[in-house]
Amino acid sequence: MKFAPWLLLGIMMGGLAAGCGATHPTAVAKLPKPSSTAPSSTPSSSIPPSSTTSPPATPSKTTSPPTTPPSSRPPKRSSTPPSRPTSSQSKTPPSTQAPIDHVTGLVWFGPKTNNAVYITIDDGWFPSQRVLQLMQRTHLPVTAFLIKDAVQEHLSYWKAFVAAGGIIEDHTVSHPPLTSVSPAEMYYQWHTPIVDYKSWFGATPTLGRPPYGAVNSEVMKEAQAAGLQHLIMWSAVVDAKGMQTWNNGPLQPGDIILLHWDPGLYTELSKLLAVIHADHLTPESLPQALS
Ligand SMILES: [Zn+2]
Repeated sequence: MKFAPWLLLGIMMGGLAAGCGATHPTAVAKLPKPSSTAPSSTPSSSIPPSSTTSPPATPSKTTSPPTTPPSSRPPKRSSTPPSRPTSSQSKTPPSTQAPIDHVTGLVWFGPKTNNAVYITIDDGWFPSQRVLQLMQRTHLPVTAFLIKDAVQEHLSYWKAFVAAGGIIEDHTVSHPPLTSVSPAEMYYQWHTPIVDYKSWFGATPTLGRPPYGAVNSEVMKEAQAAGLQHLIMWSAVVDAKGMQTWNNGPLQPGDIILLHWDPGLYTELSKLLAVIHADHLTPESLPQALS
């Protein structure tokens, strides 16, 4: 199918987020501060004494099976890891939950100041020279949530990406659904890229994006223990089919837009930028806006 006008496509796909009538709040919520009993910086001590190797049983923030239709719960994400290499995050936008989850500190929207929107691109298996050239030419602020295993395969590309103004943030080592692993593994998955990206690129990641959007309280806790300040979700998705926003409306100030480093990225990004400019929105840096 050709890339139809996005807004129409969004309306056509509108059933997914039906009933989401919430207003559009500004969305900065820091991860909880560590308490005196919070995990320290080593993986072994990041596990509370009461923890087991099983995922937390608390159902409140875990993801549900993807077969469940959208409801008033937080977004549903597939918890089945894809075969690699692939662009692999669930394309489901937030559903009817309020954009900011004040309990867990998840960020669904950035500040709306200056009509800002925030371009985030995930995974990293398919680096794009054309996207790099676009960034070098226009200084487009792009935040890449990268899988460490993918970064290692194209390290020179990602160094050029950073040199062009790109920001690299944490999308785990190997992209597991974190709600299905032990707390020690959660910590390992969050913490390892922080250390390696600092070494490779000179900047320490402060933002994380959970693979598949799979989060619960333990995932949040281990992210904080690893050193992350926010976990970033998204309010709009752009892929080969077009764009879908959380409420199926037009792109709005504050939207955090999710794309993937897949072979169609340059085309998808170009079409997104046309919409952004037509709507008088401004791409801005998400890490800067949240700092
Ligand atoms: Zn991903």
